[in-house]
Amino acid sequence: MKKQIGSLLAAATLLSACGNRQEPSTTVEQFDYTVEQFADLQILRYRVPGFEELSLKQKELVYYLTEAALQGRDILFDQNGKYNLTIRRALEAVYVNYKGDRNSADFKAMEIYLKRVWFSNGIHHHYGSEKFVPGFTPEFFRQALQETSPSLFPLKEGQQLEDWCNEIFPVIFDPAVMPKRVNQADGEDLLLTSACNYYDGVTQQEAEAFYNARKDPKDETPISYGLNSRLVKEEGKIVEKVWKVGGLYGEAIEKIVFWLKKAEEVAETPEQKAVIAKLITFYETGDLKTFDEYAILWVKDLNSRVDFVNGFTETYGDPLGMKASWESLVNFKDLEATRRTETISRNAQWFEDHSPVDSLFKKEQVKGVSAKVITAAILAGDLYPSTAIGINLPNANWIRSMHGSKSVTIGNITDAYNKAAHGNGFNEEFVCDARELGWIDRYGDLTGNLHTDLHECLGHGSGKLLPGVDPDALKAYGSTIEEARADLFGLYYVADAKMQELGLVPDADAYKAEYYTYLMNGLMTQLVRIEPGNEIEEAHMRNRQLIARWVYEQGKAEKVVEIVKRDGKSYVIVNDYEKLRTLFGRLLAEIQRIKSTGDFAAARNLVESYAVKVDPALHAEVLERYKALNLAPYKGFVNPRYEAVADAEGRLVDVKVSYDESYVGQMLRYSKDYATLSPF
Ligand code: ZN
Repeated sequence: MKKQIGSLLAAATLLSACGNRQEPSTTVEQFDYTVEQFADLQILRYRVPGFEELSLKQKELVYYLTEAALQGRDILFDQNGKYNLTIRRALEAVYVNYKGDRNSADFKAMEIYLKRVWFSNGIHHHYGSEKFVPGFTPEFFRQALQETSPSLFPLKEGQQLEDWCNEIFPVIFDPAVMPKRVNQADGEDLLLTSACNYYDGVTQQEAEAFYNARKDPKDETPISYGLNSRLVKEEGKIVEKVWKVGGLYGEAIEKIVFWLKKAEEVAETPEQKAVIAKLITFYETGDLKTFDEYAILWVKDLNSRVDFVNGFTETYGDPLGMKASWESLVNFKDLEATRRTETISRNAQWFEDHSPVDSLFKKEQVKGVSAKVITAAILAGDLYPSTAIGINLPNANWIRSMHGSKSVTIGNITDAYNKAAHGNGFNEEFVCDARELGWIDRYGDLTGNLHTDLHECLGHGSGKLLPGVDPDALKAYGSTIEEARADLFGLYYVADAKMQELGLVPDADAYKAEYYTYLMNGLMTQLVRIEPGNEIEEAHMRNRQLIARWVYEQGKAEKVVEIVKRDGKSYVIVNDYEKLRTLFGRLLAEIQRIKSTGDFAAARNLVESYAVKVDPALHAEVLERYKALNLAPYKGFVNPRYEAVADAEGRLVDVKVSYDESYVGQMLRYSKDYATLSPF
């Protein structure tokens, strides 16, 4: 599970007091965190403080793992839509080789479109999942393709360019074709109406029946059914095509395995070596029991400084929440910042025992909540260029409850968000009063970080399912409910006196910065991410509106939270912060009950009542005010570049990191050096 950057404001207020600590003093001002801005996107870059201080062996390990990370890029493009790879390559061929007017409106629009395709790993918005509207004409693109040498843009054997255009142009230009990557609209066939490439020719009912027949409700250690395969209908029969060496995506996975084998040789500890070896076996066999064994080894490897995620991990891209998109993150522990999260984790049992949840649904023993702050060395797959700021894995419920989970917050990424957003005018426009602005200024970074830590370290790991409850019982509502559960756990405790007692906040007002920004974001400002007329689809956004709307409605009689108009502008006002906390506690108890008992009807009711619908007038107002600030609602990152330095005998003697690559330069380099899959 991931924690995404919670609010836009966030950008200015997320990181803790430890942000500056990571900076060697002289280079701070010289480092430019911003790269470029287009459409609704801003590209940033991040530093990797501490990399130089790693041992040569650790650097070598990081280097091999980053190569293993980048080799999976094409997998995600294909998972996000079956035409994405061929479209990306056609666009790149034209972009690199076009001899006509590169300043024409059509070419410029195509350039923006390509930049968006790179950003989204496909032709649908990375967040809202709606298809991009191209700003260039089919005539322009056809002409440009005709002028591009066929050797630069490979077609299928025997295929003419005209055939390609006839097949692919509707996918790009016709708004009715594949309009959404992930459709979550209640009542529709979610598979037939979603453009993601996890199912082919299979209805939702067929897919659900296929997997239900395989599940044994008495199995207490079930595999993650369907996690690493495409479900297709062949000659009337439904079959799983597994992603593995020798299977689907085999060419890419072989390259990943090649680099993992190198990494295995320089592993820091025998435990880490075993983790990598098991992952290789999983990639070679596609066996999901092996995947669980790998996840258990991984969660227990706590002593290695360098760590990684590499594989089919999160299921947000599948409307049924079963099939996982490919992603990778290579990182190493930030030793000093980790002390903060360790304090929280050490007290995990106290938090579990004192939560407002019914004791039936509490864990008697919270196990293995490990938490650390990490420094990202590379982002890849579904974590690139847009990334989470916190991650909690593995996702299998029984592994989490029997073996624990690893929880991380990514310090250098959060830091880059904050640095890049400093002073952008957002808070001044949307925050109601000087008092709140003051709190946000003083405590916003700290409590934002603390909320992330509580969400990741405790929230996802808290509570338990009652015996026999299917972990997938909440179906399409599962992700939203799970994120709400983790967020509420964090919201409830960020205001607890325990925070002061543990020395995590300076005084009793600090939490108000987080409460205010959370509500402002959930009730209003996150709407800048939604196109006019659209509803909220993405699980994290749904979760935030669910929580904010619910407490707003429930506290209405007592005016706990209000939305007021001043000079025609709406502001969120919190009148009673203590009552607000009580409301968060009540909702946490209910959400935990829903999760623990698998109460699908209640989950649907909560999500559909509070999380989805948008007030069109408020939405329009927020968009207009936001537009005037000229900020991009979504951010993503260019990776640093690593270069292995070898001596005359070919031995690796150093790994150099550099930060000067452009967005376009990096994307074109990745497309050239890591082209692992055929687009057909
Ligand atoms: Zn989460």
